[in-house]
Amino acid sequence: MLLNDPLTLLYLITPFGLMTTLVLCLSYVGHGRHSPALHAWIAGDLVLAAYRVVPMLQPGLLPDTLSWLGLFTPGQCFTLNIALLLVAIGAHTLAMHYMGKPSVGNQRLLATVLGPAMAFALGAQALLPSGWVLPWFTGWLALSIAWQLRVTWPLRKRYRGAWGLIAGHVALVLFHAGNTLAMLLEPPPALLLDAPDLPSYTALAMDFMVSFLFTLSFALMLQEQLRHQIHQLSVTDSLTGAFNRRGATALLRQEWAQALMQRYPAAMAMIDLDHFKRINDQHGHATGDAALQVFARTVQALKRQSDVFVRWGGEEFLLVFPHTEAAQAQRFLERLKAALAANQQLPFTLGFSAGLADTRSLGAGDDFESLLAQVDQALYRAKQARGQVEVVA
Ligand code: GH3
Ligand code: MG
Ligand code: MG
Repeated sequence: MLLNDPLTLLYLITPFGLMTTLVLCLSYVGHGRHSPALHAWIAGDLVLAAYRVVPMLQPGLLPDTLSWLGLFTPGQCFTLNIALLLVAIGAHTLAMHYMGKPSVGNQRLLATVLGPAMAFALGAQALLPSGWVLPWFTGWLALSIAWQLRVTWPLRKRYRGAWGLIAGHVALVLFHAGNTLAMLLEPPPALLLDAPDLPSYTALAMDFMVSFLFTLSFALMLQEQLRHQIHQLSVTDSLTGAFNRRGATALLRQEWAQALMQRYPAAMAMIDLDHFKRINDQHGHATGDAALQVFARTVQALKRQSDVFVRWGGEEFLLVFPHTEAAQAQRFLERLKAALAANQQLPFTLGFSAGLADTRSLGAGDDFESLLAQVDQALYRAKQARGQVEVVA
């Protein structure tokens, strides 16, 4: 087929855009209905479909049977077309906000999606037949995409798919900013607007490539997000938010190997809450659960980011402190004890016993598991009196 006019190209791009959106809808299989980012992106893609249809709706472009769809004058078509493009960019920017954090306030939602489009339409109204409407349009486009880049840029560390968007954003910003600058230096002639106004081949080719690249990149980001969420779930204990045993084991082996190799001290404490069965019996299991959560929150608030906190089982917790000797870890456990005693959220004071050791108590060839065994025995000794911390000599 000969693409002898932009209209033919437009006829091809429009269903193509809808098709890629439809493929994106398959992500609902993994994400269910609870991905605001996916909703925002698909909404943006549907607006893009409208943006592609609008130029066809000028008198004289459609076959006779559809001529009643020639709704917009060239001037109206120009304004509406670009405004829709800006809304779509806004919706995709919103999707990037959501990829960063799951909630976005209503104000930001409206400002991101509708703000640039409305500002553009107002300016276009005033500048329309003059040539100045063109730099106004490319300038706004460059700014909106630069804003989108600002939102997408921080996501590159978490999602490799973000690089596709970033590359596209940079290219578009440079292209439109360059265009704007050129037009400011040499103002274009006034718009004629006496014949149907169709996008240029350059615009259509860019639309085709960029929307394909962007949707593909976003689909990749969704996959990465899903994988990350599933991994998080598989390594986290749902009640306390601490690592579960599965999550901890690989991490701890690695931390341990590093500590032994680089010869820095690392301490390990196994903690068991005292008389927990009694707490359950006297106050009920719900309070028992709440007590476990209070304990976990207290530890999280006190520990360093690099300390690893694991729910080893029931009411037993493992703490690993890199770059720490047993004496320092012991002071940590004292602070933890004091914080639990000061806590007002429970009708009783949570106490614990702990076994504690550091890498210096290891012999040659001892591994992570042998230290764990030592710490476990120390905990057993601590349990004889309860409320004690027993340090392996
Ligand atoms: P000790 O001072 O010797 O450690 O006594 P204990 O009662 O704490 O020890 P034991 O290991 O006999 O009991 C642990 C109890 O913790 C038994 C179990 O029902 C309870 N438990 C384990 N996991 C959970 C949980 O997720 N929620 C609640 N509410 N209780 C739990
Ligand atoms: Mg216990
Ligand atoms: Mg126990």
